[in-house]
Amino acid sequence: LARYKVAMIGSGAWACAAVRMIAQNTVRQNPPGGEGAGAGGQVPDPADEFAEEVRMWVYEENYQGRKLTEVINETHENPKYFPGFSLGPNVLAVPSIEAAAEGADLLVFCAPHQFMHGICKQLMGKVKPGAAAISLTKGMRVRPEGPQLISQMVRRYLGIDCAVLMGANIATDIGREQLSEAVIGYDNLDHAERFKKLFQRPYFRVSLLPDPVGAEMCGTLKNIVALGAGMVDGLGLGPNSKATIIRQGLVEMRAFSRALYPSVRDDTFLAGCGVGDLVATCYGGRNRLVAEEWTRGQLAGQPRTFEELESTLLRGQKLQGVLTSNEVQEILRVRRWEQQYPLFTTINRIINGFLPPKFVVDYEVGSQLQI
Ligand code: NAD
Ligand code: 13P
Repeated sequence: LARYKVAMIGSGAWACAAVRMIAQNTVRQNPPGGEGAGAGGQVPDPADEFAEEVRMWVYEENYQGRKLTEVINETHENPKYFPGFSLGPNVLAVPSIEAAAEGADLLVFCAPHQFMHGICKQLMGKVKPGAAAISLTKGMRVRPEGPQLISQMVRRYLGIDCAVLMGANIATDIGREQLSEAVIGYDNLDHAERFKKLFQRPYFRVSLLPDPVGAEMCGTLKNIVALGAGMVDGLGLGPNSKATIIRQGLVEMRAFSRALYPSVRDDTFLAGCGVGDLVATCYGGRNRLVAEEWTRGQLAGQPRTFEELESTLLRGQKLQGVLTSNEVQEILRVRRWEQQYPLFTTINRIINGFLPPKFVVDYEVGSQLQI
């Protein structure tokens, strides 16, 4: 029986939480002759559809004097990016991206968005024809000719279908097996159903959504709003102010997504990838945390850059919101849309030092000022 081979491209916090779920779904429950093999033969095992071993590409680095891939393969844990959680004995960390992807039928992309272009270029011509991909990455690329979603990049460079998985999915909470939900945004229903089987767990509810572009835009844009939520926290303001930022953020996320891609559906913004992810990120995400500390530093007259805070607070994990804000603002500037997106524009002006953080709750004014 041919089984689908799975590769995870990425090994950060979310990549590890996701590969852990995948590995739970591909591990054999009924070893031949073991428990579950009754007189009538083997009990059907849902994992039979997938090859048991899951290869995970790890961007190699030194961890306490050893190669990170060696540490992961020995301990089944990624102590740098996802400490305290076993990934599963059937996850194999691989330092070569080509070797990790070779022969895979199902490719899961989960790297910070700024690295995805290099990753796609490295994999050009190296993936199995007819393979299916899914992107868990939140972010977009902006080129002179216009924006490119990560799923579009995968399709274009690798010539394979690419769905997306998006939701309120803070990695450590999923590692702790707390209830979470996500949508798979798809064009190809067969592939989406296969990926759903690969990810779905009792604590991780997956639904299918035929709006891949809308889902990916939600995952990308909520990182900008989360910076605004962090500023509200850094200013010491309460839930009313944060709710205002979340509501206005959702309005701008929907307007911007539909202005760029008119096929995007309204109800996508009410799904787990929309308001669900926005709320989770604005309360518990890394973008919120770093923006809060950045704002405190500004108010205390001890400013620190986002890069400094990223390295001290996140220790190697990557912030997506600052890059995304600058990327989105470039689109708004070129299309002369800045005034139509007052919150996005004000947040961008604040992070670039053109306005003080207090303008986050005065975004109508902040976006109108001549700077
Ligand atoms: P992370 O931020 O925890 O880790 C950064 C990763 O980047 C590490 O695996 C590191 O090895 C890798 N890296 C560093 N330099 C690199 C290079 N030059 N080339 C390639 N890789 C390099 O990663 P993550 O949390 O898995 O985030 C991946 C994506 O998932 C992001 O788009 C993020 O927004 C999204 N996401 C994250 C979470 C979360 O809770 N962490 C949840 C949902 C979605
Ligand atoms: P942060 O990158 O802000 O932690 O957001 C994580 C996320 O996307 C949760 O769904």
